[in-house]
Amino acid sequence: MNVNKTALVIGGSRGIGRAIALRLAGSGFDIWLTYRSSHEAAENVKGEIADRGRSCELIPFDVSSYEETETALAARTKESAPDVLVYNAGIARDNLMVWMTKEEWDSVLSTNLDGFFNVTRTVLFSMLKAKKGRIVVVSSVSGQTGQAGQVNYSASKAGLIGAAKSLAREVGKKNIFVNVVAPGFIKTDMTGDIPEDQILPLIPVNRLGRSEDIASVVDFLCSEEHMYIHGQVIGINGGLAM
Ligand code: NAP
Repeated sequence: MNVNKTALVIGGSRGIGRAIALRLAGSGFDIWLTYRSSHEAAENVKGEIADRGRSCELIPFDVSSYEETETALAARTKESAPDVLVYNAGIARDNLMVWMTKEEWDSVLSTNLDGFFNVTRTVLFSMLKAKKGRIVVVSSVSGQTGQAGQVNYSASKAGLIGAAKSLAREVGKKNIFVNVVAPGFIKTDMTGDIPEDQILPLIPVNRLGRSEDIASVVDFLCSEEHMYIHGQVIGINGGLAM
């Protein structure tokens, strides 16, 4: 059990982030749960975390704004460092490059990649001071292999992999472990429109992923006592990419 440990889950109101928050709470973490605007969904997660006997603080803000991120997290993390940071917030605005608008490019990059900088820059000092921490970044198979219609999204997710590996080289000596998970197709609001019959033939295990499939790997990376996994990108994609 992770007694008196805190996990900061960025983008925890729905989908994969929700499953991660619940799983970590089940492993004994108290949760700081951030999201942008889904207040009701976040309240529901908070209730489910309370059912597991853990506390959950809701912290709504837009990760794409450095100022909002600092306001939401700086004072809190000055008081105490979270033991775990999961950077999971993300959006997709798919379009072929030839039609992609500047707004589609900017919104995805600013949420998925700038958001990682905004949050991690704000939180990292407290972890360094505590001389311990676990950081897990949620990337995507699209950042590893590329995906037509996702030039913006793939760029952001590949960027996260580069950023996380560089950070891993900076903070490994400080007892802060940094790893990336790269989900394939997971059933959430984000993938609601995906035609399953066209996708399934590409997935050797013949099913879409569940948010819990991601949460269990994140939990392992955050809970395992004797860790020697660092700077790695762990694909969780049913064999979609090997
Ligand atoms: P989702 O159901 O749409 O949930 C996204 C979460 O991120 C929500 O909590 C949302 O908050 C939060 N968020 C989005 N923009 C934000 C912003 N600007 N500021 C603060 N929070 C923000 O997405 P999901 O499918 O669970 O995906 C979670 C992560 O996994 C994303 O990074 C995604 O790219 C990645 N991923 C997903 C899949 C997949 O197949 N689903 C595959 C590979 C990677 P609100 O609820 O308030 O909007």
